[in-house]
Amino acid sequence: MKARLTFHGAAGEVTGSCYLLEVERGTVLVDCGMFQGNKDARVRNFAGFPFKARDVHAVVLTHAHIDHTGMLPRLVGDGYPGAIHATEGTLGLCKIMLPDSAHIQEYDAERRSKYRKRRGDSPVEPLYKEKDAERALSAFRPHPFDEWFHVVDGVRARYLRAGHILGAASIEMELTDGDKPFRLVFSGDVGPMNDPLLPDPESPAEADFLLLESTYGNRDHRPLSETLDELAEVLESADRAGGNVIVPVFAVGRAQMLIWAIGKLEREGRAKPRPVYLDSPMAIDVTKEYRDLRSCCRRGGEEEFERINARDLRFSKSVQDSIAINDARNSIILSASGMCEAGRILHHLAHHIGREETHLVFAGYQAAHTLGRRLIEGEKQVRIMGREVEARASIHTLGGFSAHAGRTGLIDWYGAIGRKPPRMALVHGEDAPRAALASALEAQHGAKVLQPQRGDVLELGNES
Ligand SMILES: [Zn+2]
Repeated sequence: MKARLTFHGAAGEVTGSCYLLEVERGTVLVDCGMFQGNKDARVRNFAGFPFKARDVHAVVLTHAHIDHTGMLPRLVGDGYPGAIHATEGTLGLCKIMLPDSAHIQEYDAERRSKYRKRRGDSPVEPLYKEKDAERALSAFRPHPFDEWFHVVDGVRARYLRAGHILGAASIEMELTDGDKPFRLVFSGDVGPMNDPLLPDPESPAEADFLLLESTYGNRDHRPLSETLDELAEVLESADRAGGNVIVPVFAVGRAQMLIWAIGKLEREGRAKPRPVYLDSPMAIDVTKEYRDLRSCCRRGGEEEFERINARDLRFSKSVQDSIAINDARNSIILSASGMCEAGRILHHLAHHIGREETHLVFAGYQAAHTLGRRLIEGEKQVRIMGREVEARASIHTLGGFSAHAGRTGLIDWYGAIGRKPPRMALVHGEDAPRAALASALEAQHGAKVLQPQRGDVLELGNES
């Protein structure tokens, strides 16, 4: 058997997941993610694919996050003619996220074109348009977990549960053009064990070669129980002060986790029941998707949503609904974006951050230079929507709501593989965490660990 694997992204970094597998009778793309965050991300996204979209025969996705799917509309726009394989949960989330991503791209191009016009430059085209996202969605083929499906001749695949976000999966791929089948495993992003809403990540029974994520390869997260204790304290403090609790949330995963956590504390009598506003159209759609797709949730997970929905979760879909929240008292307001860079959260911050009784809670990663990060670092004078505001609210960070397994979780996930691979590659991690994880896997399990860079090519075979 001959196969070649090229690392086109998420190699030495955490975004742009994209791996090209070439076998004798076809070419398969695993994930088709957008580069995000750092300065040259946009340049790399616009540079186009380092392969011909028309030459790819099948796409197999691990999960819906934009850094794993965000270039699909471009791939289809560039002439990719085939199917996009995914779990039902991934399809459900992509239906929300890909058109949203296209909308952002179109808006971005419009803004830049206006700016360029003032300088006498020609307008720019968006990375892709909403119609490309719709075309990509029509190519999706959903599959249940655990069942093998045909990818190309000589390759079949099945999905294992990975936790992380709704529908997230590891891919077990079997290459059959050889004396014996070759098992190639893509971990995708691996979630933590005991997530209250999502299934525990499952390790494959065997692997001949493995790609394992390493986002948190050098540290463990705070236990969820400690994070719940902290949230309970914040809610009690806000209650005493008579202020609202403002939580900037990421629409996928984190918002649902917060809703669950608040509900749990209220049911256990550890927090006073109060209105919870979910003020983000995308987070509302995603929350409904979590509720509708029971098969992708942890057993019992969907009931947690039913419970809180039965009492006082208020969906603020329209702009009018959002503005009306200004009159809310003793309430919790969950709004996007998660790093306070755009969206409705800015209005709530402008309205609330100058008040001492307000409690601002950060429950997710805040990248350098974002408004969220500057507030956490104690900046007192901030500019929000063109206005200088004094940050007088009390500010809290909660560290235990991660959608990723920590270092111990990743090592345990590897440890649970029955027949371990002779070689493996660590992907989806910055250099420091993945080097730390590589050392741990070598020391504890004798693993032979590669740390590929973008553009690296690997020959796979049964002797590897
Ligand atoms: Zn992810």
